[in-house]
Amino acid sequence: NQSALKAINLSLDEVQGQPLEQTAWWTQNAESQQSLKRAMSKAAGGQVVRYDIETNTSDSAGVILDLMLSPMFTHDGKLAHLIISGADITERKKAEQESRQLTLLLEAQRQRLHNLLAHVPGIIWEGVGEPDGNQRVTHVNAYAEKMLGYSVAEWLNNGDIWRKIVHPEDWDSARIQAQALYESGQAGLVQFRCVTKSGRVIPVETHTALIKNQAGEVTSICGAILDISERQQSARALARYARELRRSNEELQQFAYVASHDLQEPLRMVTSYLQLLESRYSHQLDEDAHDFINYAVDGAARMKSLIHALLTYSRVETGKQEFASIEAENALKQALNNLHLVIEDNEAIITHDPLPCITADEVQVTQLFQNLIGNALKFRREAPPRIHVSVERQNGEWVFAVKDNGIGIEQQYLDRIFIIFQRLHSKAKYPGTGIGLSVCKKVVERHGGRIWAASEPGQGSTFYFAFPDAAA
Ligand code: ADP
Repeated sequence: NQSALKAINLSLDEVQGQPLEQTAWWTQNAESQQSLKRAMSKAAGGQVVRYDIETNTSDSAGVILDLMLSPMFTHDGKLAHLIISGADITERKKAEQESRQLTLLLEAQRQRLHNLLAHVPGIIWEGVGEPDGNQRVTHVNAYAEKMLGYSVAEWLNNGDIWRKIVHPEDWDSARIQAQALYESGQAGLVQFRCVTKSGRVIPVETHTALIKNQAGEVTSICGAILDISERQQSARALARYARELRRSNEELQQFAYVASHDLQEPLRMVTSYLQLLESRYSHQLDEDAHDFINYAVDGAARMKSLIHALLTYSRVETGKQEFASIEAENALKQALNNLHLVIEDNEAIITHDPLPCITADEVQVTQLFQNLIGNALKFRREAPPRIHVSVERQNGEWVFAVKDNGIGIEQQYLDRIFIIFQRLHSKAKYPGTGIGLSVCKKVVERHGGRIWAASEPGQGSTFYFAFPDAAA
């Protein structure tokens, strides 16, 4: 017919009367000759033969034909004709191929999802129906059995599985939470306790989400149930540690205060009796005895200053004021005022940037500036002290810096100096108790901030302290 001729650009004259083997239909495709031969002899034997064959037409290659060979017989049973017809089924085959590939892809995806879900350490489920009614679970991962003891089949075939796994005391609240989420159409969290098949109670957190069709109607609900016992345990442990820490801090505070307070009285007694000894029996004592008394008086004086230091330290907490919005510049001015004699004696030059308003305890900020500037004056070199106070805003904090041109601090001591009673020099060379920086640290930490130092030994030091900016 015309289609057969057109397929490989033949005219009727070229083929009419020719044996099939001499036509281009036969010669153009050597590969299919064998199968065609077999099919023809089978058809000649009386069968209708049908099979797919790949061939080329003049327009395109790889055309697939659904080939059918039908024998026609004369009335006395002799083979008269063989009718060969071929329908182009390339498109259909392509579609079939694509659909097969899609199916494979889908299966691979399904397997991947299945593997993923099987390894989540939580129950992944999907269900239909409102949480308030009889919600039926339509899918659940294998972990469900591991966590709660009910097999996947039990989950799927039990209309009241939720009744079984939700702790009876939490049933109402869990249902109300779940229903509220369902009605809001949002994803969210529901917390309750589960009871395992063997009766063990597990606190869980359930993340649920609604699955909607294109029209926006809810078709199902899915979720993940996670065991949060460990999290709860560590949260409880953390809270317990925090309580213990607070208590032991308070005790220590109390202890430092009481000890230093109560030590003052016996110390006063020691000092005054030593003085009495000296004044009354002076003439009976030899030179050594006088020296010994002087050493003892010196020791008592030193102990007195240490006790005072300890009291100051413990008062950072006990004598604290409420935080208020204050001008840091006022606190600095007050500190400079308190230090004016030392500043004059040292012929120091002290400058500062404009300072911001901060939320703090003004008395303590004054003390902070006073201690840092006091140190900058004390640990000076030959040259007159030059001290500059600056401030910068960084990541929601005010970072203050007190920079001096003094003796500096070796790198390895930069942390140690903030510990109570830690000093780097003898008291003869630089008087002090080693309390100043630990008070600074305590004050800064009470304000939720940090304190640290940087230094170039022999050049000077910079003490930084950062206060959180309440407005940030
Ligand atoms: P104190 O000043 O009573 O010794 P601090 O706690 O204020 O106690 O300081 C601890 C130590 O840190 C000091 O003894 C000193 O060695 C070192 N230090 C503090 N400030 C400076 C500074 N500005 N320059 C050099 N060293 C300093």
